[in-house]
Amino acid sequence: MGTDCLFCRIVAGEIPATIVRETATTLAFRDIDPKAPTHVLVITKEHYADVATLAQGDPGLAGELLGTAAVVAEEEGLTVDGFRLMFNTGPYGGQEVFHVHAHLLGGAPLGPMLCR
Ligand code: 5GP
Ligand code: ZN
Repeated sequence: MGTDCLFCRIVAGEIPATIVRETATTLAFRDIDPKAPTHVLVITKEHYADVATLAQGDPGLAGELLGTAAVVAEEEGLTVDGFRLMFNTGPYGGQEVFHVHAHLLGGAPLGPMLCR
């Protein structure tokens, strides 16, 4: 993908981010506008537009993304009290950055999944 994708630019080191974990295929970094005490974004280094495209295109890589999220949850101390892992997808899902990312949220009770 390259230069017009924000998260590809973070992977390339062109835009700074607070990285909490990096593997050969994935990257986890803190959200610039955290919605919970802990808010980490977990992405694949390779560009996929969203989780559905990733899961269908490379299920193994999707598993690696989930594995990184699980390790970060452990390292951030979220596994005892729990956390939320979510993929906003498409316009109705509220996706703003079209490079697949899991939101790892925790550190406090997160309330209902959706506000009606
Ligand atoms: P989405 O709405 O696409 O699911 O989530 C995009 C997320 O990316 C938002 O939570 C937003 O705060 C975060 N974000 C947007 N720009 C940047 C940035 O430049 N750096 C970081 N670390 N996060 C960003
Ligand atoms: Zn990208």
